[in-house]
Amino acid sequence: MKNAENKKYDYIVVGSGLFGAVFAHEAKAHGKSVLVVEKRPNIAGNVYTEKIEGIDVHIYGAHIFHTNNKRVWRYITQFAEFNRFTNSPVANYKGELYSLPFNMYTFNKMWDVVTPEEAEARINQQRSEITAPPRNLEEQAIMLVGRDIFEKLIKGYTEKQWGRDCSELPPFIIKRLPVRLTFDNNYFNALYQGIPIGGYTMMIENLLDGVEVRLNTDYLEHKKELDTLAEKVIYTGPIDAYFGFRLGYLEYRSVHFETELLDMPNFQGNAAVNYTDRETPWTRIIEHKWFQFGKDEQGNDLPKTVISREYSSEWKPGDEPYYPVNDEKNSQLFERYRQLADMESKVIFGGRLGQYKYYDMDQVIAEALNCCDSEFGIN
Ligand code: FAD
Ligand code: UDP
Repeated sequence: MKNAENKKYDYIVVGSGLFGAVFAHEAKAHGKSVLVVEKRPNIAGNVYTEKIEGIDVHIYGAHIFHTNNKRVWRYITQFAEFNRFTNSPVANYKGELYSLPFNMYTFNKMWDVVTPEEAEARINQQRSEITAPPRNLEEQAIMLVGRDIFEKLIKGYTEKQWGRDCSELPPFIIKRLPVRLTFDNNYFNALYQGIPIGGYTMMIENLLDGVEVRLNTDYLEHKKELDTLAEKVIYTGPIDAYFGFRLGYLEYRSVHFETELLDMPNFQGNAAVNYTDRETPWTRIIEHKWFQFGKDEQGNDLPKTVISREYSSEWKPGDEPYYPVNDEKNSQLFERYRQLADMESKVIFGGRLGQYKYYDMDQVIAEALNCCDSEFGIN
């Protein structure tokens, strides 16, 4: 009993994902007492990996760490050694294979062009059908790479992923994808990239080393008693759930995974293959072993393989929330929840669900470190 209000803990952290784990680690390092409560039977939130036949399987979807943020990279590499994995997905359009992101290999396969000049001329010719600023994803995509690529590599995939027509989606979604007139299959424009050797779960275990964690504990179900234990709460669950959905549900896209262990060494020869036609029901297949180059930590070849087919769906209450839908309607509803959140003086809302933002892992770490700066002072 040492803090101002004589509570057992200085902080309760709700959720053991990246935000919660970074915050809990820093709280402990700054001499604070902290309890993490996690409703799932395991730590690590959506970056959770499980070892199957020596393969770190990304249970909640493939996660490739990438960042340009030096502070974040320096920070996170204290808790895991990262391999040199570079994301280079392949697109499968009805059996035709294309390199991603859009680059000279893609243009050569699509149009038989050989030089950057020829590729640029093709793109310019095709983009000329767009004469006004793009109003939706379809127009934005054609403006970026032309109609051929839009039809074969973007339209079907995007409509499966978002469950909406490309003409009804906002242009910004597609702006994330690089377009290059070079032979470069690296999906990300990031200075640092890789996968933690030994899996993300081990990295989160290292962050939570020495921190008390209660699994299978839903904070919202035990809020009254848990709140008596701590001075402050760091809440990384869905913000609308915290307020009992009293203003309505925020929408998400959900994903479900069909994971199979196969008795063969090599199913598709790459970590990610995107199925960009409309008819194939899954958006992509992940073959997890290629995140670690098909080898275990001792460098032995792995004889089997694990694949996950990914299906995208509209979220409904009870599903796992994955992608916040940052459209006008949901942004306005979030804003109203944020105003309620501002009135909770002893609660900090963090992470992808607490802030209802499409954050990548590095942004979540950066946000958690900013939060620690304001709680504990800048290191
Ligand atoms: P989470 O990981 O969701 O953690 C929140 C935790 O809180 C969960 O463990 C949850 O069980 C727990 N919780 C919620 N409510 C309660 C409650 N009431 N009581 C107790 N516990 C509760 N980012 C990248 O940088 N690269 C990628 O390649 C990438 N791929 C992705 C693929 C998919 C399919 C998805 C969905 C996301 C991807 N991301 C990627 C984003 C990345 O997953 C997130 O940025 C990051 O994991 C969010 O961390 P978080 O701590 O905010 O949330
Ligand atoms: N996209 C596409 N074809 C692909 C891969 C991506 O059309 O083969 C589009 C799709 O609209 C997607 C967007 O590009 O929503 C962003 O892709 P990214 O891989 O960044 O999405 P993430 O899965 O990380 O959200």
